[in-house]
Amino acid sequence: QVAVSVQSASKVFGAGASAFTALNDVSVDIADNEFFTLLGPSGCGKTTLLRLIAGFEEPTSGRILLNGTDISALPPFKRPVNTVFQNYALFPHMTVAQNIGFGLEMQKRPKAEIDATVSEMLALVQMTQMAGRKITEISGGQQQRVALARALAPRPKVLLLDEPLSALDLQLRKDMQIELKRLQTETGITFVFVTHDQEEALTMSDRIAVMQAGNILQIGDPREIYEHPAHRFVAGFIGEINLLEAEAQSDGAFRVGQTGSLRAAEASAGQPATLAIRPERIVLSPGGTGGLPGTITNVVYHGTDTIVHFALPGGTAMKARLQNTSSAPLPFATGDAVAWSADPRSVSVLEG
Ligand code: ADP
Ligand code: MG
Repeated sequence: QVAVSVQSASKVFGAGASAFTALNDVSVDIADNEFFTLLGPSGCGKTTLLRLIAGFEEPTSGRILLNGTDISALPPFKRPVNTVFQNYALFPHMTVAQNIGFGLEMQKRPKAEIDATVSEMLALVQMTQMAGRKITEISGGQQQRVALARALAPRPKVLLLDEPLSALDLQLRKDMQIELKRLQTETGITFVFVTHDQEEALTMSDRIAVMQAGNILQIGDPREIYEHPAHRFVAGFIGEINLLEAEAQSDGAFRVGQTGSLRAAEASAGQPATLAIRPERIVLSPGGTGGLPGTITNVVYHGTDTIVHFALPGGTAMKARLQNTSSAPLPFATGDAVAWSADPRSVSVLEG
């Protein structure tokens, strides 16, 4: 069941010589009950896409469907959608409970219903003890919870969250990531979550859309996006990765420089190809046999793992991340010859 369907949506700001395409023919289907994340660097169009879904902005072309109904022409307040903004936008002179009940008051719901919903929301975000406090009398993390409770109170079908954790410090942000995921599971509301933080996206999302310069480059679950980036930008934006220029051979493997060949998860998409391999997927053998040749340039101990930097005969710099499974040092040192390999399933072939 599709909750939100964005169909060929474009957004151009301005006109003539100053026209700027913030979204370029974007299509995405977000499922009912899904924790869906828009991930990309600042300026790539994440907020613009959320604003189109919310109705604060009209698409230049394309349309937005909610549960199969075209809502492109509905004003924001008529859409069963609510937004949590980056700055929370709470009312400082009101209490926590008044803030949470505000949307329901506007809808002129009966008082008994409002009271019941506010109590439920206070419990959901674990703020029952703070109900009577003013917004100015609670911490940033608590304000974040109130903003969430206020947005959830009218029971929207879809909740849009625009970098809601970016104002919090690291530890609180980590706690709130778990909290948000719990809230989404408990309420069953579809979440469309925006972040520029790849780790946040990987830990919270059912699926991620990676955006760049107004385009969606790849959509997939966290494992697919991380293990099988389809695009050079996606590979580089999420985690660390080794990129290798290679030539497709007739047998389906890829020739890497003059030094040997590698098999990948798929056969060649075209010539020349770029291969991508995560540092933790590289297998190293001491000495020069059992893989492609390299020379170790640096070995850096990181506690849980060790990063071995090595160079290919053509000079390409590579990194392997090896787990420190015992207290003994790994058998690799700067200047040593090394042989490396990777399971074909861990070698991605990139576009773009
Ligand atoms: P993100 O949320 O990913 O950082 P935005 O969606 O806010 O990106 O912005 C995407 C691009 O569109 C940016 O280059 C921004 O400057 C531009 N933009 C956003 N809103 C407007 C507007 N109202 N008028 C002109 N340009 C805009
Ligand atoms: Mg933004």
